[in-house]
Amino acid sequence: MNQRRSISILGSTGSIGTQALQVVDAHPGRFRVAALTAHENHKLLFEQVRRYRPCVAGLTSGEIQIPADLRFCEWFFGEDALRRAADAPCDDVLVSVVGMVGLQAVLLALKAGKRVLLANKEALVAGGQAVMSLCADNLASPALLPIDSEHSAIFQCLRAADGNPFERIILTASGGPFRNWSAERIAGATLKDALKHPTWRMGRKITVDSATMFNKALEMMEARWLFNATPAQIEVVVHPESIVHSLVGFRDGAVLAQMGMPDMRAPISYALSFPERIPFGGNALRLHELGTLHFEPPDTTRFPALRLAREAMEAGGTAGCALNAANECAVDAFLRGRIAFRNITPVVEETLQTVGSGPAGSLEQVMRADSDARRVSQQLISKVYSEEP
Ligand code: NDP
Ligand code: MG
Repeated sequence: MNQRRSISILGSTGSIGTQALQVVDAHPGRFRVAALTAHENHKLLFEQVRRYRPCVAGLTSGEIQIPADLRFCEWFFGEDALRRAADAPCDDVLVSVVGMVGLQAVLLALKAGKRVLLANKEALVAGGQAVMSLCADNLASPALLPIDSEHSAIFQCLRAADGNPFERIILTASGGPFRNWSAERIAGATLKDALKHPTWRMGRKITVDSATMFNKALEMMEARWLFNATPAQIEVVVHPESIVHSLVGFRDGAVLAQMGMPDMRAPISYALSFPERIPFGGNALRLHELGTLHFEPPDTTRFPALRLAREAMEAGGTAGCALNAANECAVDAFLRGRIAFRNITPVVEETLQTVGSGPAGSLEQVMRADSDARRVSQQLISKVYSEEP
């Protein structure tokens, strides 16, 4: 048996983090957990530390009392936690925190020569230029493996293309819970409506992003960076069954697709065991049982997020970072009941109009653009769109 690969998991208590640990559970002889972090769910983090015995653990929301039996590992709190976990002795750093807070840890891990398994799309949308400058020839010997199912699919299709360049990248989108809703009905959508995703069970932020289709907007920008694609090369097709995870088109007209049941453990285990494929206990795809798959064009009138992503990609520089920051603020405000669902997109659009775009080559430039966009969004949320009395 080869030596076990050691993995640090940043955001181990979330939807992706817990599913990554399920893949680890299925292969105890193959993986070892080096570090774990949570934001505030210390109860689950304590259970995980007790079970997986990492050498580093972190709680990003702040310091708390650590039970005596868990003091065998080094604990870090607050801002330090992600950095220390990314820096722990390990082979791979799986980044499954939510929001661009993951960016610095991604950069740190790459600089330290670790392989990054990335679910945290916001880090790439905000800091794609800085991140990808550390990943030379990412297809042949990947420094960064995508976990987002669409990008894992594209990555797998490109690996199968024998070095042939792609012409088009076709991202599939489930369409979210409001795919068939009229614009008027979407305008009245509640938190409960937005949190009912038809095919995937995920964290709250990405579930709301799926309802506005900002998730696909972020994924267009994620694809742009990961695969060095132009905005014109990135297409979106709505595919409600989430069986075709994405497709890549070539100049002879051939299109390769990657398929499977909707189960995030598939792209997680692909990244964890790359380049080998290992079983993880998921259901087999039986096309005859599904019968029919559907595809339809996206509607950018009801879902302007896709148009905003295209505009941000065309603008380049820090526009993607600003879009992401404004969306993080707007979704957080919606989840707290501070703004209505229908005002998430206007907050993002108006923030983008106000802050514009600047150069995004350094982390400092990205962090400044992020905080400028957050300041503008917070003003819009409290002064223009607030639902509070
Ligand atoms: P969850 O909300 O389920 O989990 C987020 C994780 O990050 C938790 O461990 C949480 O800790 C931690 N966290 C939350 N806020 C912070 C913070 N401010 N600083 C550091 N850590 C924090 O999210 P998901 O697992 O659904 O998503 C994680 C990432 O993966 C997102 O970027 C998402 O877009 C992406 N992704 C998710 C998919 C999915 O199926 N869920 C699919 C594709 C991509 P705590 O539990 O203590 O709050
Ligand atoms: Mg996805």
